[in-house]
Amino acid sequence: MKALRYVEVGKPPVVVDIPVPKPGPGQVLLKVTAGGVCHSDDYVMGLSEEEYTAAGYPLPMTLGHEGAGVIHELGEGVKTTLKVGDAVAVYGPWGCGYCHNCSQGRENYCTNAAALGITPPGLGTDGSMAEYMIVDDPRHLVPLGDLDPVKNVSLTDAGLTPYHAIKRSLPKLGAGTYAVVIGTGGLGHVGIQILKALSGATVIALDVNDEKLALAQHVGADITLLSDSSASEKILEITGGLGANAVFDFVGAKPTIPLAVSVAGIEADVTIVGIGGGDVNFGFGSINYDVAVRVPYWGYRSELIEVLDLARAGKIDVEIQQYSLDDGPAAYEALGANALRGRAVIVP
Ligand code: NAD
Ligand code: ZN
Ligand code: ZN
Repeated sequence: MKALRYVEVGKPPVVVDIPVPKPGPGQVLLKVTAGGVCHSDDYVMGLSEEEYTAAGYPLPMTLGHEGAGVIHELGEGVKTTLKVGDAVAVYGPWGCGYCHNCSQGRENYCTNAAALGITPPGLGTDGSMAEYMIVDDPRHLVPLGDLDPVKNVSLTDAGLTPYHAIKRSLPKLGAGTYAVVIGTGGLGHVGIQILKALSGATVIALDVNDEKLALAQHVGADITLLSDSSASEKILEITGGLGANAVFDFVGAKPTIPLAVSVAGIEADVTIVGIGGGDVNFGFGSINYDVAVRVPYWGYRSELIEVLDLARAGKIDVEIQQYSLDDGPAAYEALGANALRGRAVIVP
């Protein structure tokens, strides 16, 4: 089968031919219908050889931590209500399944995964950018029903991650409030739609160019602003000098984290989702009273079910650009050049 793999640190991924894997006991083999391209892949492929090895990533590694497929074969002993032929989405942050967090479907915060060497597909284990993929346990599968896998595969991360981030802040986002979204790419453009669907907040979206802002407006942002040195002042003006009630930073870079903190009002939430290498120093007087800063990772299994339900209800529409597996490297080039509108999805 064809697979898009990262084979050499610092080099672009390549399409190679490898054997179709066999599902071991307890595992499920999917025939992949779609795999989403995430900026985190770019982050991983940007690590130095030392950092890559220290993070425990293998080489070669099939990319793809957003995956959807059709059940092709059940390994020995698999007990599930799912059947061969069922369309499913893959919940990516795999955990041990039995620690306190996993027991609640919060496998993204499994307390045993690191010790047991359990890693997500595409981020340590072979992922979805291949014709077939192994899923370690049927509990990682959520039925897609009649949702189009190509349109919706990115909800497994670009939907789930903002959903998880936003859900924690919903009590602060009633009518008359303001939410700021920084970065309106793959995650951000879905985040805007989730905010509009679930909260009463006016959504102010920021990005670095007009095309990105046009997408933000298209998916429902109430106000769009260029993310430059005047953005903070403009947001304070819009919010009557008070600042926003919640800020979601889907960039997490040097300029954006201080910007996020500077526009957070009293008792606001600042949620840093992007892993762009930024950080911030703050203390009494340099940040509004009682601001809470959070740095979440991915989302809960139950939340993936919820986010797929939102799509089923027609409240989220992921903007996608479709690529074949052979064109997979070009999708990563476009991501690297910040030339994508929404999410790139690879269809084997
Ligand atoms: P993306 O490339 O699709 O979107 C990033 C967007 O940020 C682009 O539209 C870009 O123009 C914009 N941007 C860049 N610099 C900016 C600035 N200074 N101000 C405003 N906007 C700016 O990326 P993505 O796949 O949506 O991922 C977003 C980030 O979230 C990445 O850092 C990714 O690694 C991270 N991520 C984190 C988690 C998590 O669990 N915490 C999960 C998925 C992705
Ligand atoms: Zn991701
Ligand atoms: Zn666990």
